[in-house]
Amino acid sequence: MNKFIRRAFNKIEKLSTDEIKTLVRYQASENELLGNVFQKIDIGVIVSNGKGRVLTCNDTAKRLIPLSRPLSEGTSLKYVLGDQDLANFMLQAIETTSAEEGVEKEFNFQHGDRVRTLCISVSAFISELDPVFDQDTGNRILFLVRDISEEKRQESRLHRSESLASLTTVAAGVAHEIKNPLASIGIHLQLLRKAFQRKKHLTLADASRYLDIIDEEIERLNGIVVDFLFAVRPMDVRLRLENLNSVIEDVCSFVSYELSGHNITINRQLGEFLPKIRLDENLLKQALLNIIKNAMNAMEGHGGTLTVATKLMGDHVTISLSDTGVGMDEVTLAKIFEPYFTTKSSGSGLGLTMVFKVVKEHLGEISVSSKKGVGTTFTITLPVPTSERLALEEAYPS
Ligand code: ADP
Ligand code: MG
Repeated sequence: MNKFIRRAFNKIEKLSTDEIKTLVRYQASENELLGNVFQKIDIGVIVSNGKGRVLTCNDTAKRLIPLSRPLSEGTSLKYVLGDQDLANFMLQAIETTSAEEGVEKEFNFQHGDRVRTLCISVSAFISELDPVFDQDTGNRILFLVRDISEEKRQESRLHRSESLASLTTVAAGVAHEIKNPLASIGIHLQLLRKAFQRKKHLTLADASRYLDIIDEEIERLNGIVVDFLFAVRPMDVRLRLENLNSVIEDVCSFVSYELSGHNITINRQLGEFLPKIRLDENLLKQALLNIIKNAMNAMEGHGGTLTVATKLMGDHVTISLSDTGVGMDEVTLAKIFEPYFTTKSSGSGLGLTMVFKVVKEHLGEISVSSKKGVGTTFTITLPVPTSERLALEEAYPS
């Protein structure tokens, strides 16, 4: 309460009606000013009493917070919050937050095709002026809601460029990769020149053996540059709630023709009733294709079986891809995710680097087990979003 009001308040009996009117008008205009600011700021504000009843809230809060029912003054927070995690946090905070100690937490929500991150901070104060002050409900809880999605996106972009295996390593890798094709092009141009010097009339057939190799090497260089750009480019990831099994089905039918051509049978073991997963369909498909391509290479010549399985494991789902190919020894296994590591004469060594990046962008994990002469299994673990977890619990109460 400001000094002017406090003084007036203390001697209110002595004030004239006009003076009281002035006082009220002054308060009203102050109120209007603060009310406007309150509605216009881009921070969501909710004030509740100690029982979780909303005393006031602004439009930003209504816009940002996922709600199952309209948020307004007088409603009880526990009936309007649309997200179970958020509700647990806020209701718990009402019980535990004191004037001395506030709490703060971040939450992710699907919002259109983006993920929205909100930072909710909670603090408490006692309202001394409340005319109907009561010990239980006099505690005021202040929730401030900030949309920090853009900050988070920037942060992860930064993190991505840092995690890019130190730029020098990558650059050294590229330099190493392009040295051989360049040298080969040089040599074959020299040979071509010599062939011209030896013969006055060189036919296309004579020159072809050199030109073809030069063509091939240029093709290889181009591949290296394209792959390199792909590997270093920050990914534009758009996570949406999708049915994982149908993504896997798509990938399997896409490769089935090529696999059968290599005498490889696909064995699908897709888990039933999987929850939806937050994923970028194109990127995940590309990553799975890279793994399958490697499996195909590993089973080249003799054929085999590719087993693709999905499974719900508590709050995660797993995708596993097993081949019955040549397998790897420990030394190889330790390096496969490194950019440019390849054991193939025409490999880029970037396939699994991309897979790793994609899995990380999905907040997942990837692991590999392999035995030389027996086969290899890649297992990707992806988190089940909280909203889907709740739906699962409702469908299958424990
Ligand atoms: P590339 O396929 O171009 O060699 P990758 O990053 O896709 O690059 O794979 C790196 C290396 O990992 C491969 O060269 C190979 O030695 C090994 N590898 C990957 N997948 C398998 C697999 N399924 N079986 C055996 N080796 C594999
Ligand atoms: Mg590969």
